[in-house]
Amino acid sequence: MTCDPRHALSEKDGALCIEQVPLNQIASQFGTPCYVYSAATLRTQYQQLAQALSPMNARIHYSVKANSNLSILALFKDLGAGFDIVSGGELSRVLTVGGDPADVIFSGVGKSVEEIDLALKVGIGCFNVESHGELSRIEARAQLAQVRAPVSIRVNPNVDAKTHPYISTGLKSNKFGVDAASALTLYGHAASSRTLYITGVDCHIGSQIADDGPLLEALDSILELVDSLEERGISLEHINLGGGFGVRYQDEVAMDLDAYGARLQQRLGSRSNLLCVEPGRSLTANAGLLLTQVEYLKTAQDGSKGFAVVDAAMNDLLRPSLYQAWHDVVVVNPPDKTTLAQTWDIVGPICESSDFLAKDRQLSLDEESLIAILSSGAYGMSLASNYNTRGRAAEVLVDGTEVKCIRRRETIQDQLRFELPL
Ligand SMILES: *Cc1c(COP(=O)(O)O)cnc(C)c1O
Repeated sequence: MTCDPRHALSEKDGALCIEQVPLNQIASQFGTPCYVYSAATLRTQYQQLAQALSPMNARIHYSVKANSNLSILALFKDLGAGFDIVSGGELSRVLTVGGDPADVIFSGVGKSVEEIDLALKVGIGCFNVESHGELSRIEARAQLAQVRAPVSIRVNPNVDAKTHPYISTGLKSNKFGVDAASALTLYGHAASSRTLYITGVDCHIGSQIADDGPLLEALDSILELVDSLEERGISLEHINLGGGFGVRYQDEVAMDLDAYGARLQQRLGSRSNLLCVEPGRSLTANAGLLLTQVEYLKTAQDGSKGFAVVDAAMNDLLRPSLYQAWHDVVVVNPPDKTTLAQTWDIVGPICESSDFLAKDRQLSLDEESLIAILSSGAYGMSLASNYNTRGRAAEVLVDGTEVKCIRRRETIQDQLRFELPL
């Protein structure tokens, strides 16, 4: 059994606990599948990053899409975080927990008129603008509302984040941001507008970045742009380097935040701009796990391995199906020692061959087994769907000895209430 401090897991009196609470107790109290988060891990992850950036004038904007549960947002708000959002819905979540809209950065390539209007109305901190069309739209909507719109241009520095192609965003071939030359033009336009005011510059080159090399390369090209803007009389309050800090799922080395912080400081030198970062995954991934119960065990027809059919599926945790992502698997209640370990695929009930949570794992299982899929705190619940008309899982937050349900399990009534009879 793995007892890993990354996940706040440890064994107490023979029971696998997250912080002080046995996982089997959580399963019987709240049912399965169920997402379980450790408040202590969330706080530690935030504080480690804050510490690494502390020698600089820096601000952490938690990227809401990684895990957008209201209680998680409230926890980060209490630690002093601002927020990075990509939709009007995420903005409403931040406002619901009493987040200050002035501490919110609005990213994303497709901001609608309604989303821009909402952001202007509440006094958003900054729009990260991703195209000429968006800048014009923001200007027009702000004119109509008779307010000024704070803007930052998202620059695509054309660096390879060396991560999975689906989570790489900083290459010329990606849909995000604009190149440096176009950025200069957009800044020129913004500077001459009485409706827009320029707050900063930003980039975000991808996710699950292991090595800070590409991030620093992106910073270098951003700093070049900052200097060109200074020459044109345009000075920026903030430089936003985005998120994407890699974590350890299997045997990856998590990004060394202290070393990154030191290199940032060295490169920024005496510049006075506020440094912003937008981490999502690195704050939440290893703070969460997905608890799931075995329903059936069966053997593959060629006899090569077994399938453990569990009550969680790709609609609960899409990462393995979407990116071939690897999650550690732990059996919470191992069977007696006479049950030998063998090779299992952990699969869900959904009618797709891509519906798996883990493949080829050496585990000893029986039909009573309760399983924890680790490192599921980021892009787990936030990517969940109702595919196969499955209600989404419950979410539980553990803090020391305390356990709180932070989202109840969806019922069939929840799902059916949006549909209109013929
Ligand atoms: C998704 C996203 C982030 C967060 O990325 P992580 O890999 O979760 O840290 C930050 N900024 C922007 C613009 C994003 O789209």
